[in-house]
Amino acid sequence: MIEQLKQRLLDLRSELMESEKAYRASGDSIELDQTRVGRLSRMDAMQAHQMALETSRRRQYQLLKIEGALRRIDSKEYGYCYVCGEEIDIRRLSADPTITRCMGCVDLAE
Ligand SMILES: [Zn+2]
Repeated sequence: MIEQLKQRLLDLRSELMESEKAYRASGDSIELDQTRVGRLSRMDAMQAHQMALETSRRRQYQLLKIEGALRRIDSKEYGYCYVCGEEIDIRRLSADPTITRCMGCVDLAE
């Protein structure tokens, strides 16, 4: 079961890394040809830029959580609550393999 979760984490990680790489390769889209683009579409572009930035931030946070989960799998700490040490329900883990807290401690989450 843990092996399956690990595989999912690895797949998810490479997916996220691919999107992040593509995002970075696309460069900063805020650089616009001002003679060609009107004020309105410049605002659109800036909005799109902000959204892309936010998406990238979320992606990086998700990647950190995945790295953490993979580290815990390797150190055999995976599947135990970070707060109280109780075993985390496997159904909750399969819903989100990056969770670190049991049901009782989830309210204390960051
Ligand atoms: Zn707990």
